[in-house]
Amino acid sequence: MNSSESAASARPADLRPETVAVAAGRPPRENGAPVNPPVVLSSTYFGRGPVTAGDRGYARYSNPSWEPFEEALAELEGAAEPGLVYSSGLGAAASALSLVPAGGVVVMPDHSYGGTVALAEDMAEHGAFTLRLVNIADTDAVLAQLRGDGAAGSASMLWVESPTNPMLEVADFRAVTDAAHEVGALVVADNTFSTPLVQQPLNLGADVVLHSVTKYLAGHSDVVLGALVTSDPDLRATLLTHRSKHGSIAGPFEVWLALRGLRTLALRIERSQASAAVLANRLLEQQQVSAVRYPGLSNDPGHARAKAQMDGFGSIVAIEMAGGAAAADALVERLQLWMPATSLGGVESLIERRRRHTNEPASVPESLIRMSVGIEHVEDLWADLVQALEAL
Ligand SMILES: *Cc1c(COP(=O)(O)O)cnc(C)c1O
Repeated sequence: MNSSESAASARPADLRPETVAVAAGRPPRENGAPVNPPVVLSSTYFGRGPVTAGDRGYARYSNPSWEPFEEALAELEGAAEPGLVYSSGLGAAASALSLVPAGGVVVMPDHSYGGTVALAEDMAEHGAFTLRLVNIADTDAVLAQLRGDGAAGSASMLWVESPTNPMLEVADFRAVTDAAHEVGALVVADNTFSTPLVQQPLNLGADVVLHSVTKYLAGHSDVVLGALVTSDPDLRATLLTHRSKHGSIAGPFEVWLALRGLRTLALRIERSQASAAVLANRLLEQQQVSAVRYPGLSNDPGHARAKAQMDGFGSIVAIEMAGGAAAADALVERLQLWMPATSLGGVESLIERRRRHTNEPASVPESLIRMSVGIEHVEDLWADLVQALEAL
């Protein structure tokens, strides 16, 4: 790992992830050196003579401001290569999808992040590949799509999102990644919902991990940023070339903010996960709520898988309202602390009825509300929900 190798190797070995999030990506421990990496605002670098592979060249190819975050994220995901930051999660997704050979087949969860499905549909319409959407929790269906039962050819890429957004379905991660590799497909896993503290897809067989850094990693709803992580040096080189040529690069200040956010990731996740579990259990008891989706609930269909492959259950809860879409809208309208907004993963609790987006799949119930639990006191979050539920 490039510039801070000496600093990284000077750290004690086998640090726990909570510590890595704080200690990784620091400048060398030399007197007078800053303890935080500087923001390098320069579009070019001094360069003379023949250009070699290691030259920084120009700031679309490399920026020292990207590297501390790329090293820290890779270490947290257990990757052997530094990560790659992108201008957004979808910028990273476009780069990952570019790994599909022309005319290939991509198998993707039907309840992937909506923007990812829209991007893949757009690329498929332009002839890049054939897209097959599938319920990622239905392992038999995933296997059939990977093999191409019914003549259409086997898959070149499996996209995994688990738990899904906003249905919180849980894939049998190992089973689907093994099956993908059997047909020669690459596996890309969107780990935005879980973060590496809760789930490590590379250890579950994924080849590439994707993050919308916008969400938990940056954590304050003030940055748009994406990242890819892989242990395969050839894949990383291909992705780096794609990023440089297609130009989906991150601003140095955004990456600095994301690293600042990453320092507190463990504390934020600890708090928001604990609160999500409390709220999910209490919401189950409410007569106005007809269903609660949260993999941490013992009766949730994804509970056993989540328990086996995750170190927690995340901080996203989805509920369905007995009174339908109107009750869901009224609930969101009456809240005074929860913020009615799309997105997730910030310190502040966000809530929205997903079908208010016209492109949300019809298989998502009309009354489904997605809740991104933040780090406020859980009793304040609960009191706000109770006053809004009672007013219905
Ligand atoms: C937000 C999100 C994305 C897209 O990331 P952007 O940073 O908004 O481009 C992809 N996947 C998931 C799961 C997301 O929540």
